[in-house]
Amino acid sequence: MPSEETYRSLSYWLDSVPGSLAPGDPLPGDIDVDVAIAGAGFTGLWTAYYLAVAQPSLRIAVCEAQIAGFGASGRNGGWCSALFPASLAKLTRMGGRDAAIAMYRAMQRSVDEVGRVAAAEGIDCHWAKGGTVAFARAATQLDRAREEVAEAREFGFGEDDLRLLSATEAREIAEATDVLGATYTPHCAAIHPARLVRGLAEAVRKRGVAVHEATPVTEIAPGCLRTATGSVRARYVIRATEGYTPLLPGLGRAIAPVYSLMIATEPLPEAVWAQIGLTARPTFGDHRHMIIYGQRTADGRLAFGGRGAPYHLGSAIRPQFDRVPRVFNALRHTLTDLFPVLADAKVTHSWGGPLGISRDWCASAGLDPATGLGWAGGYVGDGVTTTNLAGRTLADLILGTGSDLTRLPWVNHRSRRWEAEPLRWLGVNAGLHTMSWADRRESRTGRQSRAAQVFGRFLGG
Ligand SMILES: Cc1cc2nc3c(=O)[nH]c(=O)nc-3n(C[C@H](O)[C@H](O)[C@H](O)COP(=O)(O)OP(=O)(O)OC[C@H]3O[C@@H](n4cnc5c(N)ncnc54)[C@H](O)[C@@H]3O)c2cc1C
Repeated sequence: MPSEETYRSLSYWLDSVPGSLAPGDPLPGDIDVDVAIAGAGFTGLWTAYYLAVAQPSLRIAVCEAQIAGFGASGRNGGWCSALFPASLAKLTRMGGRDAAIAMYRAMQRSVDEVGRVAAAEGIDCHWAKGGTVAFARAATQLDRAREEVAEAREFGFGEDDLRLLSATEAREIAEATDVLGATYTPHCAAIHPARLVRGLAEAVRKRGVAVHEATPVTEIAPGCLRTATGSVRARYVIRATEGYTPLLPGLGRAIAPVYSLMIATEPLPEAVWAQIGLTARPTFGDHRHMIIYGQRTADGRLAFGGRGAPYHLGSAIRPQFDRVPRVFNALRHTLTDLFPVLADAKVTHSWGGPLGISRDWCASAGLDPATGLGWAGGYVGDGVTTTNLAGRTLADLILGTGSDLTRLPWVNHRSRRWEAEPLRWLGVNAGLHTMSWADRRESRTGRQSRAAQVFGRFLGG
């Protein structure tokens, strides 16, 4: 197994999380439980948590290939946001207008639910609910900001959910360059994700859940999780492996792992923060096509990330894919472009990891009652909060508790499989290139690029 040092090097968050990162006890041999879960990221742990709370007598085992929080849950941007990867329009096509609205409202409530549980369980995840500011730094971006607000209004979401800010209002939140305006939503908290995921693992262990680390699952089958050291037999078997799912037999085309990369600066002096702002620690981004995201950390760093790393043929996942110098340089450049005062700030950490994208860009959580097989995933880059909703939903489905959650439109939604290779490689990388090309073209010409929208529609199905 990798050393504790290797785990710490996976992200700034894992580097700064208190406590040991040495893997806990692996699965000792065959066992029988009620619910078996593959993967100890947020999805697996939230599911275990809500099951254990609802029915303390339930026997639950989680098998994790590495350590709890090894995957995206220990490496992300720490936006605990109400963002859901499918648009209101798409959800309306799937389940109707009311269902689409219910989905977005459920996401908003889930943000507070994460904060509630963290507080109740004594998990200090540096929670700061300062909302999100998304700058418009070009006329085309301002158009998209307006469109986003207009769509929200059409669905009955008011100023309390999302509002357009003038340039002056936006700069009162953060002194970014070239700001023409912004959108602001209060539905987001900045968190330290590794503190949350490691704290959750502790919380479920205290409630009697067996978390077996260093235990890769080799096969997921009805009634059974197979590993090299034994099988976990269970009535319910849950797949919570997100970006790593294609490595499992029979699941090669279920999810495409796409990399997102991040950098973090050294702690910045107060004089620098006085020039930047972000005082209430709102998360921030802008309205370009190729996603960027940032947060002011509790210890005064800037953690900043974005997409742009390539998708690898055959959905391959390798440690070296976490680090792409070209992308780190581009992130550094974008960050300094936003906040020139950071020109001399040292970047102390750079890292990345795979997130999971389903073919129609829509996350789902579901359970087949006949086989007892359940799953949740396909969150794209919006899993920090969505995994909480997934955990509560899977718990309700397993316990047979009909609830508002189990009626949401993403429940039991089946995305079609990704194309076989090399088509998948061509399609995903063409999409990534189109997004950055569209951003460059827009900043050169000042006109909206239709190509990015058309490609987005193709991928979104
Ligand atoms: C760099 C980056 C930035 C992001 N930023 C944000 C953000 O700011 N906000 C947001 O909402 N989302 C963000 N995301 C996405 C978010 O982190 C994920 O959607 C979320 O963490 C998914 O949680 P998960 O538990 O489903 O998957 P993961 O956290 O990936 O966990 C899956 C676990 O399963 C384990 N596993 C895999 N295969 C096996 C196997 N065969 N046997 C046993 N165990 C296995 C893995 O080791 C891993 O621990 C980001 C992702 C990345 C990579």
